[in-house]
Amino acid sequence: MNYSFDELLTRCTICNSENIVNYTVDHIGIQIYKCNNCEVKFMNPQFTDQYLSDFYAQYQNKDFKHHRYGDDKNPRFAKHRDNINLISQYISPGNFFSIGSGNGFDMAVAREMGWRVEGFEVDEDFTKKLAAELDLKMFFGDFVKLSLENEKYDCVYMNHVIEHPKNPGEYLSKIAQILKKGGILYIATPNIDSLSIKLKKAMDAFGLRKKKGSYYDTWQHLTYYNPYRFSEILKKKYGFETLHLSNDVKQIKDGKVQNSAMDKFLYKSGFRIVLRKH
Ligand SMILES: [Zn+2]
Repeated sequence: MNYSFDELLTRCTICNSENIVNYTVDHIGIQIYKCNNCEVKFMNPQFTDQYLSDFYAQYQNKDFKHHRYGDDKNPRFAKHRDNINLISQYISPGNFFSIGSGNGFDMAVAREMGWRVEGFEVDEDFTKKLAAELDLKMFFGDFVKLSLENEKYDCVYMNHVIEHPKNPGEYLSKIAQILKKGGILYIATPNIDSLSIKLKKAMDAFGLRKKKGSYYDTWQHLTYYNPYRFSEILKKKYGFETLHLSNDVKQIKDGKVQNSAMDKFLYKSGFRIVLRKH
């Protein structure tokens, strides 16, 4: 597929500030901007809607084993259970909404753990098939335009999703609307300030890597987060209090996720954050 791009954005896609600057360019020439207000980084210009809908029509029929937690036999299946166990420390099972559920295993796990589950995926054909297969209510299309009931959900779950849409700020506003007061938002996403990326950035600065900025993963990711700055803006702009922040990338042994005290030091390539809506 050939890339096609929108007009250049003049505002941050998370906090809407106009104080954005050209930050760097990756090895395929895609420009990364930085917001001086909330410090999020994002692709600018972004891909066109047409490009993205073609991309996702293909994407969802592939098995992305590295973060689309496979089937029962895949040890990564245990990861959703661990995530939802973490959520259960803060809220009892109620209405659960999965945004970008991929193969739907997060929804299957949540249902098995006592939640009433609904979900959303972008592609119509894929979503209809998945909803029928799992016998669950699912929505598709443009998330921010869905007619969802306000303050209906006890938990909104977004596992490696918030780095994908063009308008993450609009997603967060909509999520704040559909969550009950006191409801929980779970987000996991890559950490753009992980140790490995810091090292690669240093090497890039000396011209020591062939694929400069490849860690932005611009072929699929549009927005890049630092866990602490993201937590701050989620509080300041969207009214979410951070309850838990830890590494997301974990070892899985004998079907069990190995959580460690070290995970509060956010050096790994992904982080997870549990938030409460005020
Ligand atoms: Zn911003």
